[in-house]
Amino acid sequence: MNDASNLGLTTNMIDNRESKYKVLLIEDDFAHEALILRSFEAHKQYQLTSRHTLADARKELTQFLPDLIITDFRLPDGNGINLIEQFFQNKSCPIIVMTSFGDESVAVKAMKAGASDYIVKSDQTLIELPGIANRVLREWQLVLDNKISLEQQSRLTAIMEATPDLISIADIDGFLTYLNEAGRRMLGISMDENINKIRLADFHAEEDALLIISEGIPYAIEHGMWKSHSTFISKSNERILTSLVLITHKSEQGNIDFFSTVAKDIRSLHSAEETIKYLAYYDTLTGLANRNELLKQLEHEIDRVQRNKSHSALLYIDLDNFKYINDSLGHPTGDLVLKKIAQRLQSKTRGEDILARLGGDEFVVILTELSHDSLEALNQARKVTKKLNKSIARDVFVENMTFNVTASIGISMFSAGTDNSHELLRFADTAMYEAKKAGKNQFEVFHKDMSVQIHRQLALEYKLRKAYSNKEFVLYFQPKNDAMTGQICGAEVLLRWNDPENGIMAPGHFLDVLESSGLIMDVGDWVFKASLKQLANWIAKGIWKSHQRLSINISTRQFQDEHFSSSVIRLIEKAGVPAQCVDIEITEYSLINDVKKSVSKMQELITKGVTFSLDDFGTGYSSLSYLKNLPVATVKIDRSFIQDITKDKSDEALVTSIITISKNLGLTVVAEGVETKEQLQILKQYQCEYVQGYYFSKPIPALEFERLLCE
Ligand code: C2E
Ligand code: CA
Ligand code: CA
Repeated sequence: MNDASNLGLTTNMIDNRESKYKVLLIEDDFAHEALILRSFEAHKQYQLTSRHTLADARKELTQFLPDLIITDFRLPDGNGINLIEQFFQNKSCPIIVMTSFGDESVAVKAMKAGASDYIVKSDQTLIELPGIANRVLREWQLVLDNKISLEQQSRLTAIMEATPDLISIADIDGFLTYLNEAGRRMLGISMDENINKIRLADFHAEEDALLIISEGIPYAIEHGMWKSHSTFISKSNERILTSLVLITHKSEQGNIDFFSTVAKDIRSLHSAEETIKYLAYYDTLTGLANRNELLKQLEHEIDRVQRNKSHSALLYIDLDNFKYINDSLGHPTGDLVLKKIAQRLQSKTRGEDILARLGGDEFVVILTELSHDSLEALNQARKVTKKLNKSIARDVFVENMTFNVTASIGISMFSAGTDNSHELLRFADTAMYEAKKAGKNQFEVFHKDMSVQIHRQLALEYKLRKAYSNKEFVLYFQPKNDAMTGQICGAEVLLRWNDPENGIMAPGHFLDVLESSGLIMDVGDWVFKASLKQLANWIAKGIWKSHQRLSINISTRQFQDEHFSSSVIRLIEKAGVPAQCVDIEITEYSLINDVKKSVSKMQELITKGVTFSLDDFGTGYSSLSYLKNLPVATVKIDRSFIQDITKDKSDEALVTSIITISKNLGLTVVAEGVETKEQLQILKQYQCEYVQGYYFSKPIPALEFERLLCE
């Protein structure tokens, strides 16, 4: 909506008017009516008449023409739209529509029909109504008076033509309708050349054009304005660095009328010397400070909190799934995403905060001038961090694709007597890792115990090395069952560590350390050998049927090994088992790094008869359409969806659509973690073929599993 003050035409005409403004209020809720009447009491320029139904209001309107109508949308005898249309068409008076909470879509409808404004009713908004009425009347007045006379318009044009910066106006499709003289000069467009078929985007350097289309325009539409640095390439191939502002102009009804752009040539500001300085201290991609500059500013900040006895917070931000975007879609796309995230960080912090990109997908934000009270300061830091997490996690649109990037954030608070800058960064980094471990898209505040945690991790790694050489690892087996008949159609091998101190340990206690230490390569190799040996044993005993498959889990590191496929083939041949009895469970994290290469690796094994199952489906990036391109035979729906399938309708809907689409793609579906009869019932109802879970059996040692096989 147009704010009159933007035009420099703020008037006091509303408050100074001699006769009163007649307002017709239509509201059937007596409590709301009372509140509105009370909130107008102090505004003597208004005289309210109140009605409770549309019919009564219409009757009233035959008696007098109000200056403003304020109407509830839902009235006992109809809704406000008809009334609005009638009044809007006659341009008789402005109308403010009130909707109830949850009725916002109605508000949009009302605005489209011609309402001047709307509020969603709450005690607060009802109290604010007189202020809204003031504004609406002011705008209405402006339209009526047509304050911007033609004469003024021509003056404005003269100013625009004389301005040394590029000024342009474009229609909603981006085609120019106006470009001032400076703009034509900058881009090399002659005065008589027709600009109507030209878009400004055609003159932007490629990466900037992409950014403007995917971020700038949507941002400007949402927030009114978008600012950035942007390079134009003129017709004579000159690169012109500008500081650019893109503005969205909307009609009173909220529709976009046109866009305008103002671009200032700032090449002269960037002399060679300055450019060198810039490169040394700033990250060229995002324009944020780089590591050097961050350290410098951080030291200043440490000095400052020392002097002021205040608190600050250092946030270490690491994007969770960024590598996937970079690796699968290429760096230019990744760069665009980073730029956007940087902009979001900027928009959610204050000018006095310090922002930096450390490289890759790591950012640092220093929140300065927090409270003097340490607890209060911590709360402030948490609040901002939450906001940042939320803002990062909003969908990012780039090149017609939608990405969902989340971040793990570590917070390290500091105040007088704080350790040095490097240590602070390390603390925040440690806390960030804790946040990642806790499941990503989260934040953690650093506390001294975390260093203890790191020691613990190292100790565990040492124990695991010993466990491997002492042969303390064992295999458990969990059946996969036919959902309809309950018969065993195969089994999943699950690793256990028989720790002499603590007994049988599940992988949740140690798998990440196996992986981070690289030990997983040896242990994973052992899992394969031991599983195949067990399989050969059951086949020899005649208790393993040829249609049953043994599923073995593998880690990303194992799959990424160059010799993965050939070594699996060798192990299978050595064990003398049919490859048709072997299935490999893999998560999509292992595949997305280089999908092409992954597929060819899988194909090598598939031609031998091995199948692949996609594990933990639904928790990652997996769009169902992406499944088409992967040579997997089976999809395993993650336990988290099955858990609440009886309670959570959206989980139920998701599971059904996974089942339906998978089947259409010719894939087998296994539901993981089925614990109850009710869950099984629902899955059967949706024709899920196989299930795995405690309902049938927990993972059990080989001997016990053998008994199940013989039943
Ligand atoms: P996963 O592949 O998703 O395995 C299924 C997990 O769900 C197993 O946990 C299993 O015990 C558990 N589970 C099965 N049915 C139910 C149920 O009805 N209710 C509940 N609450 N849980 C159920 P486990 O054995 O602790 O394994 C955890 C993860 O460790 C596995 O998740 C897998 O990703 C990994 N893992 C296990 N063995 C290996 C291995 O040999 N190599 C590798 N690389 N990873 C392994
Ligand atoms: Ca698995
Ligand atoms: Ca799983």
